[in-house]
Parts: sequence; C-alpha cells; structure tokens
Amino acid sequence: MALSAADWLARIRTLDLPEKVRIMNVCGGHERSITQAGLRGALPPNIELIPGPGCPVCVCPEEDVYQAIQLATREDLTLATFGDMLRVPVNVRKNEIRSLEQAKAAGADVVPVASPQEVVALARANPDRRLVFFAAGFETTTAPVAAMMAQGVPDNLLLLLSGRLTWPAVSMLLNSGEIGFDALIAPGHVGTVMGPEEWEFVVSEHGVPAAIAGFDSGSLMASMYSVLRQLQDAKPFLDNCYPSVVQPGGNPMARKFLDDVMEVMDATWRGIGTIPGSGFTLRPDYAEHDAQKVLPDYGDEARRRVGEMPAGCDCARVVLGRIYPDQCRIFSAPCTPRNPVGPCMVSDEGACRIWWSSGRRTRLELAAK
Ligand code: SF4
Repeated sequence: MALSAADWLARIRTLDLPEKVRIMNVCGGHERSITQAGLRGALPPNIELIPGPGCPVCVCPEEDVYQAIQLATREDLTLATFGDMLRVPVNVRKNEIRSLEQAKAAGADVVPVASPQEVVALARANPDRRLVFFAAGFETTTAPVAAMMAQGVPDNLLLLLSGRLTWPAVSMLLNSGEIGFDALIAPGHVGTVMGPEEWEFVVSEHGVPAAIAGFDSGSLMASMYSVLRQLQDAKPFLDNCYPSVVQPGGNPMARKFLDDVMEVMDATWRGIGTIPGSGFTLRPDYAEHDAQKVLPDYGDEARRRVGEMPAGCDCARVVLGRIYPDQCRIFSAPCTPRNPVGPCMVSDEGACRIWWSSGRRTRLELAAK
C-alpha cells in the first residue's frame, strides 16, 4: 500500500538534518500543489521549499510577446494562443498596447485556444485568412505542437514558437556559483515526455540530491523525504518517485515528433538572459509555416530591452528562486492577478499568482536568503 503524505511527513521528522535545507521545485504544478496543500507549513521549519523556473509563461521573452501583439494588430490575420498568454504584459509606454488582451479589446483578432487541434480546426474553418499560433511552453506543451506540425497543417497556419527546455535553466543555476538550493524536485510531467535521464546531471555533475515527483501530496512528500534522506546519508542519486508515469526514455513518440520538427537553440528567458540550448525552433523543412521567417519581425525594439522588466517587478529573481514571491516590493500592491505588473502574476503556473490565489496577500520585507 502506498504511503500517505502524513506517513512521509512522519518519516521526514525522524531525519537528522542540517539547520537549514533548501529544496527547489521547477514546476508550476508542483508549486501549486505544495502551496494549496499547505506543505510548507507542515514541514519542519528548517526545510525551505523554493519555487524555481517552472512557469513557461513567466519566462517567455518580452520580444516574443511584443512580436505576437504587433502581429495581432494587423488586419490580415488572426492570432491564436493559449489563454494564459493573453494577459502577459510587456514593458511599453503607457499609451501603447501592453498585452494581447488589450490588443483584443482594441479590435485585434485574438483567439484563446486550449489545444493544437483547436488551432488546426480554426485554420481549416477559415482557409482564406492567415492564422498565427503563438505557442509558448515547456517540453510538455511543445511536444503536441510538434506533433501538430508533423501531422500536417493547412497552408494558412503559421507558428510563432516560444518553446523552452527546463533542464538547461537548472543547469545554469547549478553552474552560476550561487546555487541557492541543496536538493531538487524535478518535474514529473517533463520527465514523462523526455525521460528521467535528463536530470541525471544534477547528481552526476553537481552532487545535488534529486527526485522526480508527481503532483499529489503523497508523491511530493515522498520526493522530499527522498532528497532529505539522500542529504542526511550524503549519498545523492536521482530517485524516480513518479514511476507509474515517468518511464526510462520518456515518451518515444513525443520525443520523435520534437526531434523531427524542431531543433534546439540558445534562447532568451525573460529577465534572465540567454540560456544555452534551452529553446526550440522549427527545422528548415517547416520554414513556410514559421511566422518568424514568413512575417515581418517587430521584435527589434523589444529585443533592445531584453532583460528589462516593468518598473519594480522582481519576476526574474522569483523565477530563479532568489526571492519568494511575497518579497517582491509590489507583491499584492499594486501587483495582483487583476492588475498584473509582471508575468509571474498572470499564469496559473506563476509563483506569484499561485501564492496570491492561495491566500498569501501580504508583502514581506526582503531578507537575504
Ligand atoms: Fe513580478 Fe508581480 Fe511577482 Fe513582483 S509580485 S515578482 S511584479 S509578478
């Protein structure tokens, strides 16, 4: 019989741990489960749970969002995107359109979609009109987009791709000289697609305990017990605490779609900069469907501001796990889900949004971690 979260917690309490242990997660789904279940409060006080780079909407570069907004305001096309991209703000002057939602309100033809299949159906239903699909996401979101392209799309469908790989961001943190965590909870959904092997480097190259977790409290607490036990015993290894779903090698079909349709490139992460080998781009065979190649590039102005965030916004440090969401100077006032200043308050996977929606509404004074 599987142990419950309470069983794992009892085991954690028996461990002989250092005065302070910092466990980072890199998945918005993990952060949501941890926060909503109140796992931080249940753990011994010397254990910190740090949300890391787990939100693709939060790291989607300003230049890509700006490009999407500029395309959306053209008369001759429709722009489709996942709903959580609509409210992501860009850093423009007050009288300019700063989100796809504002573009839509101003008359742009912006359509929120839930899946690539919906995008293909939309393109087929309107064969005389160009449809640009702005697709931002990590491996789990990008694989179905690759499948869509591999299976053939209508001539009028173009892809504005902003896909990112998760592990290079963790690698960057581990090589930064300012690691900021002692153990890692690796994302179960990414492991499902790409396989657990991608996370071996955390242990083999850096000696940092790691465990892949699912999304319920039991699996998360099992992964926490695993990495804490590894720390106690000074025997790090990669533990798969989600074996029912995460299999060696991942999902071969999803990986083949990704390999066939996309190449890996260096890519910009919003507020963070370029991370080597962290982005997907369409292979040349798909150039006629690549919005970056077929349509005008409006990103130059935004590109000059790469790395900049709106005034007062600390999203980059939240994404990197350098501060907690409620340590941002404008958390909850004025930045709220209704009035998001930074992208971390927009998406359901953004740490600021998750904390605010779970009832954490008070800003903390920034303290060194
Ligand atoms: Fe960014 Fe708002 Fe979070 Fe501050 S509170 S880090 S501005 S999303």
